[in-house]
Amino acid sequence: MDEFELIHRYFSTGSVRRDDVTLGIGDDAAILQAPEGHELAVSVDSLVAGVHFPAGLAADSVGHRALAVNLSDLAAMGAQPAWALLALTLPENDERWLANFAHGFFALAQRFGVALVGGNLACGPLNVSVTVHGFIPAGQALSRKAARPGDHIFVTGYLGDAAAGLEELRAGVSAHDQDQCVRRFGFPEPRITAGLGLRGIASSMIDISDGLAADLSHMLEASRVGARIDLERLPLSPSLLKQHSREQAQALALSGGDDYELCFSVPPERLALLDTRKATLGCTVTPIGEIAVAGSLRVTRQDGSDWPLNRTGYKHF
Ligand code: ADP
Ligand code: MG
Repeated sequence: MDEFELIHRYFSTGSVRRDDVTLGIGDDAAILQAPEGHELAVSVDSLVAGVHFPAGLAADSVGHRALAVNLSDLAAMGAQPAWALLALTLPENDERWLANFAHGFFALAQRFGVALVGGNLACGPLNVSVTVHGFIPAGQALSRKAARPGDHIFVTGYLGDAAAGLEELRAGVSAHDQDQCVRRFGFPEPRITAGLGLRGIASSMIDISDGLAADLSHMLEASRVGARIDLERLPLSPSLLKQHSREQAQALALSGGDDYELCFSVPPERLALLDTRKATLGCTVTPIGEIAVAGSLRVTRQDGSDWPLNRTGYKHF
């Protein structure tokens, strides 16, 4: 099969149909209709084999993750996902790999009603680049830069699982292993429902791709504020605590990446509203600390002493 037959076979047919796609895969560009009164949220992320995931990771996991990490960025803005583009560079024409990749990608796309409207297919070292588009009612996007002193800080779900899972994958475990931490790395869940439900409640929001300490620090810098969080309040899963000591688990929760949970700030006067909406967010939310007037991120133990924060997340350069 040549490039065009592969696109037709694996990518044109599996896509969700949406009425707002005037022209999808097959022309020089897609023609799309954004709903009136909304702004477009647009984001792109590349996954490079050996950098963002172990080379040899199951193809359906690669397909799922490539879309999931991008949907997570839309979730962090409070956007409703709509369209995706996929630029795929493959070392060889391996149809079994492509079929599994497409299966992982489209299974997630279908759950969130995302239409694949175009892309590119090339030969080279394995690299998957996905662009996503989502809608936000004008003016309601949740940026990183509006956290204010006194706001309470929350995170969704559990932290540290994916980093623990990645260690296991590197040791040779399959992405289809039943272990919860391995699944959290292989098939992260974008917190779209939570992101949408937090519009009008959160003052600021960011998704946790590089570890809580690094990503929360980005939010603090953008908002020109500081923060203090309690080590003991970090949500740790039973699976993580089964494999690691509490201290190791806390270190993974702070500095391990790939969880794709959301971290957000809520002004005191909206805490009651958060309480009423909590049950509809599709995941747990845990209060972990407060925004401070200034300074960098502080993590304190129960006895009031500071946890030494020395890692600041993955840096490519
Ligand atoms: P062009 O040469 O005009 O850029 P291509 O030959 O690269 O177009 O692609 C043909 C059509 O197939 C385009 O509509 C493009 O968006 C789509 N396409 C190419 N690769 C993919 C892919 N991996 N997934 C989805 N659509 C794709
Ligand atoms: Mg063209």
